[in-house]
Amino acid sequence: MTLFYCSKCGAELTRDLRKLPEVPDARVAWPDRDARTRLAPSTVPKGYYAVDPEPWGAPFSRPPARDTRPGVRGNRALLMPSELDGTVSAGPKNSVIVHPTEVPSLRLTGALGVHRGCCGPLGTGGRNMACACGTLVATLAADCLGPHELHLDPVRVYAYVTEPTA
Ligand SMILES: [Zn+2]
Ligand SMILES: [Zn+2]
Repeated sequence: MTLFYCSKCGAELTRDLRKLPEVPDARVAWPDRDARTRLAPSTVPKGYYAVDPEPWGAPFSRPPARDTRPGVRGNRALLMPSELDGTVSAGPKNSVIVHPTEVPSLRLTGALGVHRGCCGPLGTGGRNMACACGTLVATLAADCLGPHELHLDPVRVYAYVTEPTA
């Protein structure tokens, strides 16, 4: 079990969460989406977290011509603003994915600009969720056409393990 804290101010951000062995495959098909918000179910269920071993989110860069790394594809691929077409994530590895409601103290900040989808943040514009101390500690992706994930930044958030995980 693990608690997560803001690295800057030490505020407790989550309750005790249980680690999943890997990032679940997101269910983003239309029948699974919320009837009112049209959001996909959160990639990670309530009460759990998963560590994403792949680079995720901003910044994005253009891969060398011979680089065929897939990046995040399929269900979990972010919906990209057109100016980022053809780019891949050069963002941090090992971000911690949690259910968006597990971190109630965070606030969505600022104008999202092109990084806003038709009804929510795409998650492509960098960290967009602030701790009460003002530090941007997480990135929310929550538009009706993409995945529904909250990624805690691996540097700006630290983990406290309350009991060894098997
Ligand atoms: Zn803080
Ligand atoms: Zn939308």
